[in-house]
Amino acid sequence: MSSEKEKIDVLIVGGGPIGIACGIAAKKVGLSHLILEKGCLVNSIYNYPANMTFFSTSERLEIGKVPFISHRDKPTRSEALEYFRRVQNSWELNIHFYEQVTGIEKTSGGFFQVSSSKNKTYIANKVIIATGFYDLPNKMNVPGEDLPKVHHYYDEPHPFIGQKVLVVGAANSAIDAALETWRKGAEVSLLVRGSEISSRVKYWIKPDIDNRIAEGSIPAYFESELVEIREHEVDLKTPEGMVTLENDFVIAMTGYRPDFSFLEKAGIRLGDDEYQTPVHNPETYETNVEGLFLAGVVCGGLKTSTWFIENSREHADIIIGQIAEEVK
Ligand code: FAD
Repeated sequence: MSSEKEKIDVLIVGGGPIGIACGIAAKKVGLSHLILEKGCLVNSIYNYPANMTFFSTSERLEIGKVPFISHRDKPTRSEALEYFRRVQNSWELNIHFYEQVTGIEKTSGGFFQVSSSKNKTYIANKVIIATGFYDLPNKMNVPGEDLPKVHHYYDEPHPFIGQKVLVVGAANSAIDAALETWRKGAEVSLLVRGSEISSRVKYWIKPDIDNRIAEGSIPAYFESELVEIREHEVDLKTPEGMVTLENDFVIAMTGYRPDFSFLEKAGIRLGDDEYQTPVHNPETYETNVEGLFLAGVVCGGLKTSTWFIENSREHADIIIGQIAEEVK
């Protein structure tokens, strides 16, 4: 294991929009920083569906005062990737890609030892965890879920042309996947645990899915659950009884969760509320481990609809403002 001897003022875990915003904030006040990212730049956004459109208008996603120009008011994934590349270039951030943080340990001297998948150890005065929630899908825990035909991430419609597809979920990701695969020629059914499509579905998409369901183009099973997935069929439990559908693919858009074991290993306690909110001061974002902060969507625990880029980009200046006072 090699040790990077120089002590860094702020080490940031995660090179998503909020980790990048933290790096920029550190640079602005003259603190040294290092961002460790386990994948590519804005890895979560890179893994979003190829044709997705953000619900936010582009100026609400801007960081580091770099203007975000998009063709329409709401940018696409590929425009966002272009934008964040520009942000990284303009701010010349110190970021290592494909280097996963594997452990964060607070030493008796009050600083942190951070180890990585590249067998390196870094020493940092303060650490900010901005790891998001997109790496671990919420499992349905039904037999057959591990079959290769079950997808917990949706990319593009092409592989599903002419196939019988069951989309599970009622929020934006599920509805986008159902409409897009249906439009490209898949035979799509929708499985919804609750009694209706989520009210958070983008307002310009909601009438589209409501109409497709009403006209019978996309049959929807409400208040229903998946019981078993087999190679060529799925069993659903519906209010009318058990239903078996012929099936080629299941697209399970059942949401994602933060990596709680990573947080706990770093000493962060999880709240006993229903969202297992990681313990942190809501004003300072400092966790129960002094000097260890949370930023971005990871702050919400299982409530992944609390924080977005829009409202969590401000975490960066709040956290770095405090660190600057202590470290300088
Ligand atoms: P992320 O972007 O998830 O970044 C976390 C990063 O940490 C990732 O790159 C990951 O690879 C890295 N990482 C994780 N663990 C480690 C580790 N151990 N070591 C090193 N790196 C690690 N928000 C909006 O404001 N507007 C929108 O319109 C919008 N649309 C969305 C559409 C979809 C389909 C989804 C899923 C989310 C959307 N969001 C939107 C939410 C928004 O994308 C997220 O809020 C945003 O990505 C959060 O940024 P973040 O930096 O907190 O986390």
